[in-house]
Amino acid sequence: MSLEHTLATLQKIIDRWPDLVAARIKGTPRPAIPGTHLSDNGRERMNQQRRDDLADADDRAPGKTIPPLHIDILDLMTKLLTDAHTLANHVMQTTGQQPLPPPISTAMSPRPYLKRIIEFLPQACADDEDMLEAITEKADLMHDEILMALGEVFDGQRLNAVCPFCMGRTSKRLAGELTMRVRIRDIGTNEHPNLAEFLVVCENPDGMCQPFAREVDTWVGTNPAWRYPRWPWLAKQLHTARRVG
Ligand SMILES: [Zn+2]
Repeated sequence: MSLEHTLATLQKIIDRWPDLVAARIKGTPRPAIPGTHLSDNGRERMNQQRRDDLADADDRAPGKTIPPLHIDILDLMTKLLTDAHTLANHVMQTTGQQPLPPPISTAMSPRPYLKRIIEFLPQACADDEDMLEAITEKADLMHDEILMALGEVFDGQRLNAVCPFCMGRTSKRLAGELTMRVRIRDIGTNEHPNLAEFLVVCENPDGMCQPFAREVDTWVGTNPAWRYPRWPWLAKQLHTARRVG
């Protein structure tokens, strides 16, 4: 972890924001990526889930229309804006600056907040030794989320975060192994053959990741996994784990 790395990550979030704004419009291509192999049972379960989702979105159902925007990307944009404001104020307060006003609309860009973080982070890190770790973890996650939303994540990509459930404990290390990976799972149906979904999977090599059932969204083999809608929740667990750890 270094200040340069974190400043570069923040800049990448600023640079990629326009791509996210463009990608929220339906019809903007998001690549279909071949998924990993699923058991017949797993495939049937996923297909049923997908059929339910499609039925929910069916514009022939009474009172339903298909929104022209990708709701998941709009949700992510709102979240990134809130995160950027919170982080910026953390940095501003640490360095004795006036807090920044909260966004007045979810349509605002987080870039002014991110620019302030870049401007004041070096001083904030000098004032508070925990600052770099806190901002780095969050900035890495924000950047990962953007790449995933844009479909630029590759299957097997390792997340730069320690799993909050096993804390990265393996037979070789007490803690801190980076066990979380992105997996892309095929959820195609006959009508929609190219559907895939992103999962975060903890691939602890020694099977030492054993969250409570209610904390697990789904499973990939014997590994706990979380689908995209659960990522904000997962991010919160990462944050809590960092504070406690
Ligand atoms: Zn784990």
